[in-house]
Formats: sequence, structure tokens, C-alpha cells
Amino acid sequence: GFKCGIVGLPNVGKSTLFNALTRTAAAQAANYPFCTIEPNTGEVAVPDPRLKALAAAGKSKEIIPTRISFVDIAGLVRGASKGEGLGNQFLANIREVDAIVHVLRCFEDDDITHVEGRIDPVADAETVETELMLSDLESLERRIVQFRKRASSKDKEALTVLPVMEDALKLLTDGKPVRMMLKGIAVEDLKILEGLNLLTSKPVLYVCNVAEAEAATGNAHTKAVDAMAEAQGAKAVVISAAIEAEVSQLPDEEAKEYLDAMNLEEPGLDRLIRAGYDLLSLITYFTVGPKETRAWTVHKGSKAPQAAGVIHTDFERGFIRAQTIAYNDYVTLGGEVAAKEAGKARDEGKEYVVQDGDVLLFRFNT
Ligand code: GDP
Repeated sequence: GFKCGIVGLPNVGKSTLFNALTRTAAAQAANYPFCTIEPNTGEVAVPDPRLKALAAAGKSKEIIPTRISFVDIAGLVRGASKGEGLGNQFLANIREVDAIVHVLRCFEDDDITHVEGRIDPVADAETVETELMLSDLESLERRIVQFRKRASSKDKEALTVLPVMEDALKLLTDGKPVRMMLKGIAVEDLKILEGLNLLTSKPVLYVCNVAEAEAATGNAHTKAVDAMAEAQGAKAVVISAAIEAEVSQLPDEEAKEYLDAMNLEEPGLDRLIRAGYDLLSLITYFTVGPKETRAWTVHKGSKAPQAAGVIHTDFERGFIRAQTIAYNDYVTLGGEVAAKEAGKARDEGKEYVVQDGDVLLFRFNT
């Protein structure tokens, strides 16, 4: 499955957010650093209003949303790359996730200790990023020696990998995250970069954790984070972990009233989950039948057989073709039969690149 790791300095609200996300008490929130020691993983449903519309049009009994995982990764402090705090374990845990959700403390509260003794989310972000960059720098410097040698004796693999390594090393030496080279990168180079499994090449979403009263508006700290994120080509969302913790425990009706009172249209977690989904460059396709309407997750750019493989490996192996109806056609025309009659059902083959919202029906050999 697809995994987002929740990182940040101690006491910024990671566990509170994670608990709200998974609605479990597994990651205990408490007012001291290092409370969550083991990484906690939670699967969450990706909210998608299209499911309901499809299920109505397709007369499905059940709705099954797609899911992504969040991992609460604790233990980052200044010096983590040198093994401070839970440094090494922390870095190893980040290595395993596909994207990073970076929680920044944007709320003032004298009762909650800040490890650096002041509220400054941009400086906090730099502290965390610096540890990640130092770790990448060290691991890359260690590996590149070998590749330079091999490249000088015309080793083929080294000759393709080395330029990507050198570019990444240049960025890190300049104090910049490797993420900066992602924009416009060639597909082959991206593959190589992913193979290097660096920490700062993973996409980042900043989560500004604000006080309840500022959830709808943000504050001066969140504006500073917005500016930083924009400069990096990253995204930021404003959330109040305290509100989310509250809302996640309320029945739907009461949750809605509570959100209304806070001037919020939907739970921040829904926004966060969707942003995480975007961050991972994922899209959704659907299968619709009398039994269930179901959402499935694939990488942007996946072809039809790969998409079929998410349901079952047999579907991929024996793939013949996929009947494809766009979401809008399916819903506005009122289901499969009507869409077919209107000529809106296409037969797509092996090379078809699946589009977000496609309603697919696979034909395959067993
Ligand atoms: P972590 O160390 O980053 O996982 O932080 P926790 O989630 O354990 O939160 C640390 C402390 O801050 C706990 O006492 C939380 O109740 C409190 N906290 C978290 N979010 C907020 C918030 O939005 N506002 C306020 N006032 N306190 C918060």
C-alpha cells in the first residue's frame, strides 16, 4: 500500500493528529518528548464524494473506499543524523515511506513545552530538514566514491547513475533538499533517484497545527509556512489537531454542528488525506456492480493492465481489455447500460493510461 510518514519535532501535535486520523488511542498523546516510540501505522479511508454518486447510478449495495496508510514517526530532535534522540531509527522509518507529512507547531500554549523554547515553524522545518539533508549527504558521499571509480573505468551502470548522484550531491552541498531536482526530471533519472532512496527526495506536505480559534483563518505563522512551502514547490495545509481529535470522536451529526460552529466546511482530516493522496501522485478508478461500488488506487500514469493488477494479479496477467466509462458519463447518464447506449463506453487495450475517475470493467483470460 501507499504510505505517508508523519514527522516533526516533539510536542508539535503529531500523535494527536495521528490518533484523530486513525481514531485509535494507539499513539498516545502526552506532554513530553519521545512518547510515541514505535512507529504506529494506521490505514485510513480516502474520502471521495464520487463513490456515493456512482453507487446510486449503479444501484450498488455497498461502498468501499480506497485506503492509504499513515505512519506516526516519532523521535526527531536536533542532531538526529548524528544519532541523537531516536535518530537512526527515526531516519530508517522515514526511508520506508513514500511521502512525508511534516507537522509544524503554529499554536501558542505556554503549558506545552516547545523543545526549542519558542514558536517558529519555519525554523522548526529547517531543523528537521537539516537532519534529513545531513543524513542524505552522508549516505551519498559514502556511496559516490565507488560510483566515481566505476564510472572512470567505463562501467555502464555507474555511468548512468553517477550524473544523478552528482546532481543530488551538489544540491545537498548547497544546503538544498534533493526534492528541488524533481521538477521536470526525466523519467529514467527519476527511477535512478528513487533507487537511491534518499530522504529529501520524498515529496513533502506541511501541516500547520493551529489553535482551535484559528483553524478557519490561519495565523501569521501559517502564512510564513505558506511562503516557505511555495518557494520549495511544496504544499501546506492548516489544521487544528485539537479540533480533529474532538471531531473524530463525535457522531456524524454532532461533528457537523461542531464544524459549523468553527466555520469549517469539512473535517481538516479529509483535506489532509486528500492532500496526502495528491502528494503521492495517486489517482482513483472505480469498479461498480450490484454488490459494491469500490475505489481503487493507482499511480498517475498507470496503464490498464497495471490497474487491473491492483484488484488481482490474475487480472493483470490475463488482461485482454478494459471497458471504460468516464465518471461524469456514468453518473449523468445513469449507469452502465445507459452509458453504453449513448456510446460512452470505450474498449481500451494494454496501452491505455488510466484516468482519474474512470469506471472500469476488466476482461481477462484465466
Ligand atoms: P507529538 O510529540 O508531536 O506527537 O505531540 P502530541 O500530539 O503528543 O502533542 C503534545 C501536546 O500538545 C499534547 O499535550 C497535546 O494535547 C498538545 N496539543 C496538540 N495539538 C494541540 C493544539 O492544536 N493546541 C493545543 N493547545 N495543544 C495541542
